[in-house]
Amino acid sequence: MFFLVENRRHFASDNNAGICPEAIAAIARWNTGHVPAYGSDSVTVKAQSIIQDIFETDCSSYFVFNGTAANSLAVGSFCDRQDAVLCHRYSHIETDECNAPGFLNPGLKVIAVEGTKGKIQPDLLNAKLAGSREIHASQPRVLSLTNTTELGTLYRPQEIGQLCELAKGRNVAVHVDGARFANAVASSRSSPAELSWKAGVDVLVFGGTKNGLAFGEAVIFFEKHASKRFLYRMKQAGQLASKLRFLAAQWLGILENGRWISYAEHANAMARRLNDLLRTIPSVEIPFPCEGNAVFAHLPEPVVTGLHRMGWRFYSDVGPGGGSRLMCSWDTTPEDVDQFGADIRRLCNDGYA
Ligand SMILES: *Cc1c(COP(=O)(O)O)cnc(C)c1O
Repeated sequence: MFFLVENRRHFASDNNAGICPEAIAAIARWNTGHVPAYGSDSVTVKAQSIIQDIFETDCSSYFVFNGTAANSLAVGSFCDRQDAVLCHRYSHIETDECNAPGFLNPGLKVIAVEGTKGKIQPDLLNAKLAGSREIHASQPRVLSLTNTTELGTLYRPQEIGQLCELAKGRNVAVHVDGARFANAVASSRSSPAELSWKAGVDVLVFGGTKNGLAFGEAVIFFEKHASKRFLYRMKQAGQLASKLRFLAAQWLGILENGRWISYAEHANAMARRLNDLLRTIPSVEIPFPCEGNAVFAHLPEPVVTGLHRMGWRFYSDVGPGGGSRLMCSWDTTPEDVDQFGADIRRLCNDGYA
């Protein structure tokens, strides 16, 4: 007999978590009558208007199913066939999108830039920007930043501003992969506007899936000219939902009541709790500062094996040096963290370390 119900929570990824109650309730609440399809409905318009309020500007937003398409189509809105996107070596676009940017935007090249702690180093970006030869080489057209980063760190508004300034000096647009943008806002204590258009960002992918939605990312254009192309590519790529109201409804469910930020604050707090706990164990090394909902840790190999054997799920070969990545979610509880931490401590003390 198989039971499909899984009650335990893990630290593998924030997309292993379920749907938050507000998103489910919002789908049920707006599930009345017939409304126009493809985004001409009042639920979608209302969600777009709340996004303008939250970002304090007249932006255009679109709701798509997932992050890979959102990123690929967002950067592609600025690009022609000879163009390139510059992004960090460990960025999702470079390492986790299976060439989707080049598949959805024929000719597009992704160029990796280095930098410690998952963040692009300004002088190395400058070298890539300056190095483009006419006609023979691809032309840098978009700089893509991830916030919070794939290594759980945060770009602050001033750091984004500095990179945007370098990009803008070369006529390069700026995209932010914000699969965890809510965590960045919560962590930085700056406003959504300060972390995006006020710092020079042209398009933001605002993640919903990892913050409690069933599925759905909002693509927000601050540079509205490029958004016209986006709409066509969104349709061609199979990302224009006909029952768009149910993607938008989920956003209404977390935006109107501030849950989008309180869930991110909670996930960040759980990561800090785990981080503080692991710091008290001498055989555990923490390579990056905990600035979002992820904790990276170098655990002794037998401890990793022991934890996996106990049934804990998490990735154990992520980033430079291949550490363990421990993600907290909107629904991670302090008890989950304490139980996981206690198991790590016990395995370390039991001579596994
Ligand atoms: C999860 C994630 C995405 C989105 O991935 P999809 O599986 O395509 O929805 C994008 N960027 C980052 C940094 C992510 O962690």
